[in-house]
Amino acid sequence: MQFFQNTEIAFKIKKDSELRKAEIMFRMMSSPAVVKIMGMLAKLALGLRIPLRWIVKPTVFSLFCGGESLDEAKIVVEKLSEHNVLSVTDFAAENRRSENEINQVITEIVAATDYAGASEAVPFSVFKPTALAPPGVLEETCTFTGRQATDRLAAEKFRENMRILCEAAHERGVPVMIDAEECQYQQLIDDICEEMMEIYNKEKAVVFNTLQMYRHDRHGFLKEAVAKARKKGYFTGFKLVRGAYMDQERERAKKLGYPSPIHPDKESTDKAFDDAVTTCLENLDMTSLFVGTHNEESLLRLMEQMRAMGIPNDDPRICVSQLYGMSDHISFNMAAHGYNVAKYLPYGPIRYLIPYLIRRAEENRSVTGQSGRELHYIRIERKRRNKISKT
Ligand SMILES: Cc1cc2nc3c(=O)[nH]c(=O)nc-3n(C[C@H](O)[C@H](O)[C@H](O)COP(=O)(O)OP(=O)(O)OC[C@H]3O[C@@H](n4cnc5c(N)ncnc54)[C@H](O)[C@@H]3O)c2cc1C
Repeated sequence: MQFFQNTEIAFKIKKDSELRKAEIMFRMMSSPAVVKIMGMLAKLALGLRIPLRWIVKPTVFSLFCGGESLDEAKIVVEKLSEHNVLSVTDFAAENRRSENEINQVITEIVAATDYAGASEAVPFSVFKPTALAPPGVLEETCTFTGRQATDRLAAEKFRENMRILCEAAHERGVPVMIDAEECQYQQLIDDICEEMMEIYNKEKAVVFNTLQMYRHDRHGFLKEAVAKARKKGYFTGFKLVRGAYMDQERERAKKLGYPSPIHPDKESTDKAFDDAVTTCLENLDMTSLFVGTHNEESLLRLMEQMRAMGIPNDDPRICVSQLYGMSDHISFNMAAHGYNVAKYLPYGPIRYLIPYLIRRAEENRSVTGQSGRELHYIRIERKRRNKISKT
Protein backbone atom coordinates (compact mmCIF):
# COMPACT_ATOMS: atom_id res chain seq x y z
CA MET A 1 0.00 0.00 0.00
CA GLN A 2 1.40 3.29 -1.18
CA PHE A 3 1.32 5.07 2.17
CA PHE A 4 3.47 2.44 3.88
CA GLN A 5 5.87 1.67 1.05
CA ASN A 6 8.70 4.07 1.74
CA THR A 7 11.29 1.55 2.92
CA GLU A 8 13.99 4.19 3.29
CA ILE A 9 11.91 5.80 6.06
CA ALA A 10 10.77 2.42 7.41
CA PHE A 11 14.28 1.07 8.02
CA LYS A 12 16.19 4.29 8.71
CA ILE A 13 17.02 2.98 12.15
CA LYS A 14 18.51 -0.32 10.94
CA LYS A 15 22.11 -0.75 9.86
CA ASP A 16 22.80 -3.03 6.86
CA SER A 17 23.94 -5.83 9.16
CA GLU A 18 20.73 -5.54 11.25
CA LEU A 19 18.58 -5.66 8.14
CA ARG A 20 20.39 -8.78 6.94
CA LYS A 21 19.89 -10.40 10.34
CA ALA A 22 16.18 -9.53 10.33
CA GLU A 23 15.85 -11.09 6.88
CA ILE A 24 17.42 -14.34 8.08
CA MET A 25 15.18 -14.41 11.18
CA PHE A 26 11.95 -13.80 9.28
CA ARG A 27 12.96 -16.37 6.65
CA MET A 28 13.41 -18.95 9.39
CA MET A 29 10.13 -18.01 11.06
CA SER A 30 8.23 -18.35 7.81
CA SER A 31 8.62 -22.12 8.12
CA PRO A 32 5.90 -23.56 10.41
CA ALA A 33 8.03 -26.68 10.99
CA VAL A 34 11.04 -24.64 12.18
CA VAL A 35 8.81 -22.53 14.48
CA LYS A 36 7.22 -25.65 15.96
CA ILE A 37 10.56 -27.36 16.62
CA MET A 38 12.17 -24.20 18.04
CA GLY A 39 9.15 -23.61 20.31
CA MET A 40 9.30 -27.18 21.63
CA LEU A 41 13.06 -27.00 22.19
CA ALA A 42 12.76 -23.64 23.98
CA LYS A 43 10.07 -24.98 26.34
CA LEU A 44 12.11 -28.12 27.00
CA ALA A 45 15.29 -26.13 27.68
CA LEU A 46 13.38 -23.84 30.05
CA GLY A 47 11.94 -26.81 31.91
CA LEU A 48 15.37 -28.46 32.24
CA ARG A 49 17.00 -25.11 33.08
CA ILE A 50 19.40 -25.42 30.15
CA PRO A 51 20.96 -21.99 29.44
CA LEU A 52 19.40 -20.38 26.36
CA ARG A 53 20.87 -16.90 26.54
CA TRP A 54 23.81 -17.51 24.17
CA ILE A 55 21.49 -18.51 21.29
CA VAL A 56 18.37 -16.46 22.05
CA LYS A 57 19.87 -13.05 22.90
CA PRO A 58 21.68 -12.33 19.59
CA THR A 59 18.81 -13.74 17.50
CA VAL A 60 15.03 -13.50 18.20
CA PHE A 61 15.55 -11.62 21.46
CA SER A 62 17.45 -8.74 19.88
CA LEU A 63 14.91 -8.62 17.04
CA PHE A 64 11.80 -8.40 19.24
CA CYS A 65 12.97 -7.15 22.66
CA GLY A 66 14.50 -3.99 24.08
CA GLY A 67 16.96 -5.71 26.41
CA GLU A 68 17.30 -7.63 29.62
CA SER A 69 16.77 -4.56 31.81
CA LEU A 70 15.14 -1.14 31.72
CA ASP A 71 18.58 0.45 31.28
CA GLU A 72 19.20 -1.63 28.14
CA ALA A 73 15.70 -0.79 26.85
CA LYS A 74 16.37 2.94 27.34
CA ILE A 75 19.05 2.79 24.63
CA VAL A 76 16.46 1.51 22.14
CA VAL A 77 13.92 4.13 23.32
CA GLU A 78 16.44 6.90 22.56
CA LYS A 79 17.18 5.49 19.11
CA LEU A 80 13.49 5.24 18.20
CA SER A 81 12.74 8.73 19.49
CA GLU A 82 15.33 10.20 17.10
CA HIS A 83 12.81 9.25 14.38
CA ASN A 84 9.75 10.50 16.29
CA VAL A 85 8.72 6.99 17.23
CA LEU A 86 7.73 6.66 20.89
CA SER A 87 8.03 3.55 23.05
CA VAL A 88 5.97 1.69 25.59
CA THR A 89 8.52 -0.09 27.75
CA ASP A 90 6.87 -3.33 28.79
CA PHE A 91 8.42 -5.38 31.59
CA ALA A 92 7.58 -8.87 30.44
CA ALA A 93 6.77 -11.22 33.27
CA GLU A 94 4.08 -13.77 32.69
CA ASN A 95 2.63 -16.10 35.31
CA ARG A 96 4.86 -15.25 38.25
CA ARG A 97 4.46 -17.78 41.00
CA SER A 98 5.52 -16.66 44.46
CA GLU A 99 4.50 -13.52 46.32
CA ASN A 100 8.13 -12.46 46.28
CA GLU A 101 8.31 -12.73 42.49
CA ILE A 102 5.06 -10.77 42.14
CA ASN A 103 6.39 -8.00 44.40
CA GLN A 104 9.54 -7.82 42.26
CA VAL A 105 7.35 -7.41 39.17
CA ILE A 106 5.44 -4.56 40.84
CA THR A 107 8.70 -2.82 41.78
CA GLU A 108 9.96 -3.17 38.21
CA ILE A 109 6.73 -1.78 36.70
CA VAL A 110 6.77 1.18 39.10
CA ALA A 111 10.36 1.90 37.99
CA ALA A 112 9.22 1.80 34.35
CA THR A 113 6.34 4.14 35.25
CA ASP A 114 8.85 6.53 36.88
CA TYR A 115 10.83 6.49 33.66
CA ALA A 116 7.68 7.12 31.57
CA GLY A 117 6.83 10.05 33.85
CA ALA A 118 10.27 11.56 33.25
CA SER A 119 10.67 10.83 29.52
CA GLU A 120 8.69 12.37 26.67
CA ALA A 121 9.63 9.38 24.53
CA VAL A 122 7.55 7.02 26.69
CA PRO A 123 3.90 8.08 26.72
CA PHE A 124 2.44 5.08 28.61
CA SER A 125 3.08 2.58 31.31
CA VAL A 126 1.81 -0.97 30.85
CA PHE A 127 1.37 -4.22 32.71
CA LYS A 128 0.18 -7.74 32.14
CA PRO A 129 -2.32 -8.68 34.86
CA THR A 130 -1.36 -12.36 34.96
CA ALA A 131 2.04 -11.25 36.26
CA LEU A 132 0.28 -10.02 39.41
CA ALA A 133 -1.17 -13.31 40.63
CA PRO A 134 -0.08 -16.94 40.65
CA PRO A 135 -1.67 -18.55 37.56
CA GLY A 136 -3.82 -21.24 39.18
CA VAL A 137 -5.23 -18.85 41.76
CA LEU A 138 -6.26 -16.26 39.20
CA GLU A 139 -7.95 -18.73 36.91
CA GLU A 140 -9.85 -20.31 39.77
CA THR A 141 -10.83 -16.93 41.09
CA CYS A 142 -12.22 -15.96 37.73
CA THR A 143 -14.09 -19.17 37.22
CA PHE A 144 -15.66 -19.25 40.66
CA THR A 145 -15.64 -15.62 41.74
CA GLY A 146 -16.43 -15.24 45.39
CA ARG A 147 -17.53 -18.83 45.97
CA GLN A 148 -14.89 -19.59 48.55
CA ALA A 149 -13.19 -17.41 51.13
CA THR A 150 -9.73 -18.25 49.72
CA ASP A 151 -10.86 -17.17 46.27
CA ARG A 152 -12.13 -13.89 47.61
CA LEU A 153 -8.83 -13.29 49.37
CA ALA A 154 -6.85 -14.08 46.23
CA ALA A 155 -9.10 -11.82 44.17
CA GLU A 156 -8.67 -9.02 46.73
CA LYS A 157 -4.86 -9.35 46.67
CA PHE A 158 -4.89 -9.27 42.88
CA ARG A 159 -7.13 -6.19 42.88
CA GLU A 160 -4.80 -4.45 45.34
CA ASN A 161 -1.78 -5.16 43.09
CA MET A 162 -3.60 -3.64 40.13
CA ARG A 163 -4.63 -0.65 42.24
CA ILE A 164 -1.01 0.00 43.32
CA LEU A 165 0.08 0.18 39.68
CA CYS A 166 -2.85 2.38 38.60
CA GLU A 167 -2.19 4.73 41.51
CA ALA A 168 1.54 4.89 40.67
CA ALA A 169 0.64 5.86 37.10
CA HIS A 170 -1.91 8.45 38.25
CA GLU A 171 0.58 10.04 40.67
CA ARG A 172 3.14 10.42 37.88
CA GLY A 173 0.59 11.67 35.33
CA VAL A 174 1.27 8.68 33.07
CA PRO A 175 -1.54 6.74 31.39
CA VAL A 176 -1.35 3.00 32.10
CA MET A 177 -2.47 0.20 29.82
CA ILE A 178 -3.66 -3.09 31.19
CA ASP A 179 -3.00 -5.89 28.71
CA ALA A 180 -5.80 -8.30 27.83
CA GLU A 181 -5.46 -11.96 28.64
CA GLU A 182 -7.19 -15.23 27.93
CA CYS A 183 -10.95 -15.26 28.55
CA GLN A 184 -10.88 -17.20 31.80
CA TYR A 185 -8.95 -14.35 33.46
CA GLN A 186 -10.60 -11.41 31.76
CA GLN A 187 -13.89 -10.99 33.66
CA LEU A 188 -12.14 -10.12 36.91
CA ILE A 189 -9.64 -7.88 35.09
CA ASP A 190 -12.51 -6.01 33.37
CA ASP A 191 -14.31 -5.48 36.68
CA ILE A 192 -11.18 -4.07 38.32
CA CYS A 193 -10.37 -1.91 35.26
CA GLU A 194 -13.81 -0.35 35.43
CA GLU A 195 -13.38 0.37 39.12
CA MET A 196 -9.93 1.90 38.49
CA MET A 197 -11.22 4.07 35.64
CA GLU A 198 -13.89 5.44 37.93
CA ILE A 199 -11.25 6.32 40.55
CA TYR A 200 -8.37 7.58 38.39
CA ASN A 201 -9.96 8.84 35.14
CA LYS A 202 -11.74 11.86 36.58
CA GLU A 203 -9.72 14.49 34.65
CA LYS A 204 -8.42 12.42 31.71
CA ALA A 205 -7.96 8.83 30.65
CA VAL A 206 -5.25 7.39 32.88
CA VAL A 207 -6.37 3.75 33.09
CA PHE A 208 -6.76 1.98 29.74
CA ASN A 209 -8.44 -1.42 29.42
CA THR A 210 -7.57 -3.64 26.46
CA LEU A 211 -10.29 -5.07 24.23
CA GLN A 212 -9.59 -8.11 22.06
CA MET A 213 -11.88 -7.62 19.12
CA TYR A 214 -11.76 -11.29 18.08
CA ARG A 215 -14.21 -11.79 20.95
CA HIS A 216 -17.75 -11.39 19.67
CA ASP A 217 -18.94 -9.71 22.88
CA ARG A 218 -16.36 -6.89 22.88
CA HIS A 219 -18.04 -4.24 20.76
CA GLY A 220 -21.14 -4.45 22.95
CA PHE A 221 -18.89 -4.31 26.01
CA LEU A 222 -17.17 -1.18 24.66
CA LYS A 223 -20.45 0.63 24.03
CA GLU A 224 -21.73 -0.24 27.49
CA ALA A 225 -18.48 0.84 29.17
CA VAL A 226 -18.57 4.20 27.38
CA ALA A 227 -22.26 4.73 28.25
CA LYS A 228 -21.63 3.88 31.91
CA ALA A 229 -18.64 6.24 32.12
CA ARG A 230 -20.60 9.02 30.45
CA LYS A 231 -23.39 8.60 32.99
CA LYS A 232 -21.02 8.53 35.96
CA GLY A 233 -18.80 11.32 34.57
CA TYR A 234 -15.36 9.81 34.09
CA PHE A 235 -13.08 9.31 31.07
CA THR A 236 -12.37 5.97 29.40
CA GLY A 237 -9.22 4.70 27.71
CA PHE A 238 -9.06 1.65 25.45
CA LYS A 239 -6.31 -0.25 23.77
CA LEU A 240 -7.88 -2.06 20.82
CA VAL A 241 -6.23 -5.23 19.54
CA ARG A 242 -7.51 -8.22 17.59
CA GLY A 243 -6.33 -10.76 20.18
CA ALA A 244 -3.40 -13.12 20.59
CA TYR A 245 -4.91 -16.34 21.99
CA MET A 246 -7.38 -17.45 19.33
CA ASP A 247 -6.33 -21.11 19.12
CA GLN A 248 -6.18 -21.54 22.91
CA GLU A 249 -9.60 -19.90 23.32
CA ARG A 250 -11.24 -22.16 20.75
CA GLU A 251 -9.57 -25.26 22.15
CA ARG A 252 -10.57 -24.43 25.74
CA ALA A 253 -14.18 -23.75 24.75
CA LYS A 254 -14.32 -27.08 22.90
CA LYS A 255 -12.72 -28.97 25.76
CA LEU A 256 -14.98 -27.52 28.44
CA GLY A 257 -18.08 -27.55 26.22
CA TYR A 258 -19.05 -23.87 26.10
CA PRO A 259 -19.62 -21.75 22.94
CA SER A 260 -16.44 -20.25 21.50
CA PRO A 261 -16.02 -16.60 22.51
CA ILE A 262 -14.22 -15.90 19.22
CA HIS A 263 -15.74 -14.54 16.00
CA PRO A 264 -16.28 -17.31 13.46
CA ASP A 265 -13.87 -15.88 10.87
CA LYS A 266 -11.21 -13.25 10.23
CA GLU A 267 -13.62 -10.97 8.35
CA SER A 268 -15.93 -10.62 11.35
CA THR A 269 -12.94 -9.92 13.64
CA ASP A 270 -11.72 -7.25 11.20
CA LYS A 271 -15.17 -5.65 11.06
CA ALA A 272 -15.49 -5.66 14.86
CA PHE A 273 -12.05 -4.07 15.19
CA ASP A 274 -12.86 -1.30 12.72
CA ASP A 275 -16.31 -0.72 14.28
CA ALA A 276 -14.70 -0.38 17.72
CA VAL A 277 -12.26 2.22 16.35
CA THR A 278 -15.24 4.15 14.95
CA THR A 279 -17.09 3.97 18.29
CA CYS A 280 -14.03 5.37 20.09
CA LEU A 281 -13.59 8.17 17.53
CA GLU A 282 -17.28 9.08 17.89
CA ASN A 283 -16.79 9.37 21.65
CA LEU A 284 -13.44 11.13 21.60
CA ASP A 285 -14.72 13.85 23.92
CA MET A 286 -14.40 11.31 26.76
CA THR A 287 -12.42 8.39 25.32
CA SER A 288 -8.75 7.97 24.45
CA LEU A 289 -7.69 5.34 21.99
CA PHE A 290 -4.57 3.22 21.57
CA VAL A 291 -4.72 1.19 18.36
CA GLY A 292 -2.44 -1.85 18.58
CA THR A 293 -2.29 -3.46 15.16
CA HIS A 294 -0.12 -4.39 12.19
CA ASN A 295 -3.13 -4.35 9.89
CA GLU A 296 -2.60 -1.81 7.12
CA GLU A 297 -6.29 -1.65 6.08
CA SER A 298 -7.44 -0.83 9.62
CA LEU A 299 -4.83 1.90 9.95
CA LEU A 300 -5.60 3.44 6.55
CA ARG A 301 -9.27 3.43 7.58
CA LEU A 302 -8.40 5.10 10.90
CA MET A 303 -6.37 7.81 9.14
CA GLU A 304 -9.16 8.42 6.63
CA GLN A 305 -11.76 8.68 9.42
CA MET A 306 -9.58 11.10 11.38
CA ARG A 307 -9.21 13.26 8.28
CA ALA A 308 -12.96 13.16 7.55
CA MET A 309 -13.78 14.08 11.16
CA GLY A 310 -11.26 16.94 11.21
CA ILE A 311 -9.12 15.27 13.88
CA PRO A 312 -5.46 16.33 13.61
CA ASN A 313 -2.87 13.58 12.97
CA ASP A 314 -1.19 14.28 16.30
CA ASP A 315 -4.33 14.43 18.44
CA PRO A 316 -3.03 13.46 21.89
CA ARG A 317 -6.02 11.17 22.50
CA ILE A 318 -5.03 8.82 19.69
CA CYS A 319 -1.91 6.69 19.50
CA VAL A 320 -1.13 3.77 17.21
CA SER A 321 1.28 1.03 18.09
CA GLN A 322 3.14 -1.93 16.64
CA LEU A 323 5.32 -4.45 18.41
CA TYR A 324 9.06 -3.77 18.38
CA GLY A 325 10.68 -5.72 15.55
CA MET A 326 7.51 -5.85 13.47
CA SER A 327 5.89 -3.61 10.86
CA ASP A 328 8.45 -0.82 10.89
CA HIS A 329 7.07 0.20 7.48
CA ILE A 330 3.85 1.16 9.31
CA SER A 331 5.36 2.75 12.42
CA PHE A 332 8.02 4.88 10.78
CA ASN A 333 5.87 6.03 7.85
CA MET A 334 2.99 7.01 10.13
CA ALA A 335 5.37 8.83 12.48
CA ALA A 336 6.83 10.68 9.48
CA HIS A 337 3.29 11.94 8.77
CA GLY A 338 2.91 13.28 12.30
CA TYR A 339 0.78 10.54 13.90
CA ASN A 340 1.48 9.50 17.48
CA VAL A 341 3.21 6.15 17.09
CA ALA A 342 4.66 4.01 19.86
CA LYS A 343 6.51 0.73 19.65
CA TYR A 344 5.60 -1.85 22.29
CA LEU A 345 9.05 -2.62 23.64
CA PRO A 346 9.23 -5.67 25.90
CA TYR A 347 12.26 -6.15 28.11
CA GLY A 348 13.24 -8.38 30.98
CA PRO A 349 15.18 -11.54 31.80
CA ILE A 350 15.35 -13.82 28.78
CA ARG A 351 13.63 -16.73 30.53
CA TYR A 352 10.63 -14.48 31.31
CA LEU A 353 10.37 -13.48 27.66
CA ILE A 354 10.36 -16.96 26.12
CA PRO A 355 6.50 -17.26 26.03
CA TYR A 356 6.34 -13.82 24.36
CA LEU A 357 8.98 -14.82 21.80
CA ILE A 358 7.18 -18.07 21.03
CA ARG A 359 3.96 -16.09 20.39
CA ARG A 360 5.82 -13.73 18.04
CA ALA A 361 7.40 -16.62 16.15
CA GLU A 362 4.00 -18.32 15.83
CA GLU A 363 2.40 -15.12 14.59
CA ASN A 364 5.08 -14.89 11.90
CA ARG A 365 5.09 -18.52 10.86
CA SER A 366 3.60 -18.17 7.39
CA VAL A 367 5.24 -16.85 4.30
CA THR A 368 1.82 -15.68 3.06
CA GLY A 369 1.25 -13.69 6.28
CA GLN A 370 3.23 -11.34 8.50
CA SER A 371 6.66 -12.90 7.75
CA GLY A 372 6.11 -12.66 4.02
CA ARG A 373 5.27 -9.00 4.35
CA GLU A 374 8.29 -8.26 6.56
CA LEU A 375 10.55 -10.10 4.11
CA HIS A 376 9.03 -8.24 1.16
CA TYR A 377 9.84 -4.81 2.62
CA ILE A 378 13.28 -5.83 3.96
CA ARG A 379 14.28 -7.15 0.52
CA ILE A 380 13.11 -3.98 -1.23
CA GLU A 381 15.19 -1.89 1.18
CA ARG A 382 18.27 -4.10 0.85
CA LYS A 383 18.03 -3.84 -2.95
CA ARG A 384 17.64 -0.06 -2.69
CA ARG A 385 20.73 0.22 -0.49
CA ASN A 386 22.77 -2.09 -2.74
CA LYS A 387 21.86 0.01 -5.76
CA ILE A 388 22.95 3.22 -4.00
CA SER A 389 26.25 1.70 -2.86
CA LYS A 390 27.01 0.67 -6.46
CA THR A 391 26.41 4.16 -7.89
C1 LIG B 1 0.86 -2.75 20.47
C2 LIG B 1 0.21 -4.08 20.60
C3 LIG B 1 -0.25 -4.50 21.84
C4 LIG B 1 -0.89 -5.75 21.96
N1 LIG B 1 -1.40 -6.13 23.16
C5 LIG B 1 -2.14 -7.27 23.25
C6 LIG B 1 -2.84 -7.62 24.43
O1 LIG B 1 -2.79 -6.92 25.45
N2 LIG B 1 -3.56 -8.78 24.44
C7 LIG B 1 -3.66 -9.60 23.32
O2 LIG B 1 -4.37 -10.60 23.37
N3 LIG B 1 -3.00 -9.28 22.20
C8 LIG B 1 -2.25 -8.15 22.12
N4 LIG B 1 -1.61 -7.84 20.96
C9 LIG B 1 -1.56 -8.83 19.84
C10 LIG B 1 -2.79 -8.68 18.95
O3 LIG B 1 -3.93 -9.08 19.67
C11 LIG B 1 -2.71 -9.53 17.68
O4 LIG B 1 -2.48 -10.86 17.99
C12 LIG B 1 -1.66 -9.11 16.69
O5 LIG B 1 -1.44 -7.74 16.70
C13 LIG B 1 -2.11 -9.51 15.27
O6 LIG B 1 -3.27 -8.79 14.89
P1 LIG B 1 -3.19 -7.55 13.88
O7 LIG B 1 -4.36 -6.67 14.05
O8 LIG B 1 -1.89 -6.91 14.06
O9 LIG B 1 -3.09 -8.23 12.43
P2 LIG B 1 -3.98 -9.13 11.48
O10 LIG B 1 -2.97 -9.98 10.81
O11 LIG B 1 -4.88 -8.33 10.62
O12 LIG B 1 -4.87 -10.03 12.39
C14 LIG B 1 -4.51 -11.26 12.92
C15 LIG B 1 -5.47 -11.49 14.05
O13 LIG B 1 -6.81 -11.63 13.54
C16 LIG B 1 -7.52 -12.57 14.33
N5 LIG B 1 -7.90 -13.71 13.48
C17 LIG B 1 -7.10 -14.36 12.60
N6 LIG B 1 -7.76 -15.39 12.01
C18 LIG B 1 -9.00 -15.39 12.53
C19 LIG B 1 -10.14 -16.23 12.34
N7 LIG B 1 -10.13 -17.28 11.52
N8 LIG B 1 -11.26 -15.96 13.07
C20 LIG B 1 -11.31 -14.92 13.92
N9 LIG B 1 -10.26 -14.08 14.14
C21 LIG B 1 -9.12 -14.31 13.46
C22 LIG B 1 -6.59 -13.00 15.45
O14 LIG B 1 -6.80 -12.15 16.55
C23 LIG B 1 -5.21 -12.76 14.85
O15 LIG B 1 -4.21 -12.53 15.85
C24 LIG B 1 -1.00 -6.61 20.82
C25 LIG B 1 -0.52 -6.16 19.58
C26 LIG B 1 0.06 -4.93 19.45
C27 LIG B 1 0.54 -4.50 18.09
